[in-house]
Amino acid sequence: MADEPKVRARQGGRGLSRRSVLAGATAGALAGTGFMSAGSAIAQAPKARGGRTLLKNGVVLSLDPKVGDFDRADVLIEGRRIVAVRPNIEANATVIDASNTIVMPGFIDTHHHYYQSALRNVLGNGLLADYFRDIVNKATPLYRAEDAYIGVLSGAVRSLSAGITSFADLSQVSNTPEHSDAMLRALKESGARAIYAYNRGYGDGAKYPQDVERIQKQHFASADQLVTLAMATGITKDQWLLARKHGLRIYTHVVGSVSAVAPAAVMKLGDEGLMGPDNVYIHYTGANAAQMKRVKDTGGWLSLAVPIEMTMRHGMPPLQLALDHGILPSLSSDVETTMAADMFSQMRAAFTLQRAEINERAIKGEKDLPKLLTARDVVAMATIEGARTNGQESRTGSLTPGKEADIVLLRTDTTNVMPLNNAYGAIVTGMDTSNVDTVMVAGRIVKQRGRLVGVDLAAHRRRITASRDYLVDKAGWPKSVVDGSGQSGR
Ligand SMILES: [Zn+2]
Repeated sequence: MADEPKVRARQGGRGLSRRSVLAGATAGALAGTGFMSAGSAIAQAPKARGGRTLLKNGVVLSLDPKVGDFDRADVLIEGRRIVAVRPNIEANATVIDASNTIVMPGFIDTHHHYYQSALRNVLGNGLLADYFRDIVNKATPLYRAEDAYIGVLSGAVRSLSAGITSFADLSQVSNTPEHSDAMLRALKESGARAIYAYNRGYGDGAKYPQDVERIQKQHFASADQLVTLAMATGITKDQWLLARKHGLRIYTHVVGSVSAVAPAAVMKLGDEGLMGPDNVYIHYTGANAAQMKRVKDTGGWLSLAVPIEMTMRHGMPPLQLALDHGILPSLSSDVETTMAADMFSQMRAAFTLQRAEINERAIKGEKDLPKLLTARDVVAMATIEGARTNGQESRTGSLTPGKEADIVLLRTDTTNVMPLNNAYGAIVTGMDTSNVDTVMVAGRIVKQRGRLVGVDLAAHRRRITASRDYLVDKAGWPKSVVDGSGQSGR
């Protein structure tokens, strides 16, 4: 059994005993977390008066043109939902002072492999080939269910802390059904709005893709929950058809520099009429104009992991090609083995890449150039376009009355952006995760005044470190953090 972190006494409201956390777990593999019991972030969130919370006097960026933006306004939340966005709201509610903050929709990351949290930065210099050798073929088969669990939970906590309220998790470590269950449990415990894009695993115990039927029946009887089921697939007809049979969105990696999964392979399925508005194409590097047009014509979605694509040799991010075809892509962080997974990093990379390309063409004398991306465009990519890509526009992605309250408050009285002169510009070109003050998912506070609610970080660190120690030991990797010899990508 893994070392079990000490259960710290915390204030009431958790509702779940350790025994209930353990219920149904594989013996030894899924011991109670000790630092985050099921629903703890939610259970410990401050109770709003009458179920109402009023965010008062913030700079409000709604990302909804019908609602607009405000130099100073309030956001009223009732239960899970936003009910009003305008200046000078009077209401009997628990008031949160939002002055000196930007109030905006939570960030949305449309593709990440959450189980890898214990391996953060191991491939700081890695290329795709290193990733396949070390992470896919070496480390992933070694994962126990408890490693998958703590990896996913640690990634979810990292996301929430960075203001990412919603994300798609494509963890390809369904080595057994217990691994899948463990990851789902982590997502549910985290309090995030997560899409569990059920993915493949390794070894004799792997039951992908047919286990999707059990997973859907067992975990997704209700559609009214924060965690939603989807499927991560290859460019594989049978897998796409299986996902559709179960009504699930399809997330597929398409990488131009790897011929077997290049855009041309997608076109073959497109020729059979299989590309549709439930397809999310990740990376889509190496695409030509016709291949991009097909995505647009079939109503598909793009998830670009711009810094990863640039650093790991996926090929140039097809950002301008997408824009040329009227697609404003969503952004995704992909892997923490090789890059920061916060959305400030993703936004800044997309912003600077597109502008570098256009600026270079301008310098060379080209006329009638495409528009430069604006900071607002990029914030939209990291919020509302993420919601659309994940098929959740009706629930999240903008501060629209009726949507669920997935909201982030970014501090503006900080050394990096004070005095605030340009809200969108500050977010994209000035801020980082240290500005993330308060985070709310479906009306529940998961981070407040810069601190996560209901997370014992010391216990968390012990658990993720123990998982790292196990994986590095089993993989036979160097244990030094300053000597990466033996791993070409490290
Ligand atoms: Zn990926």
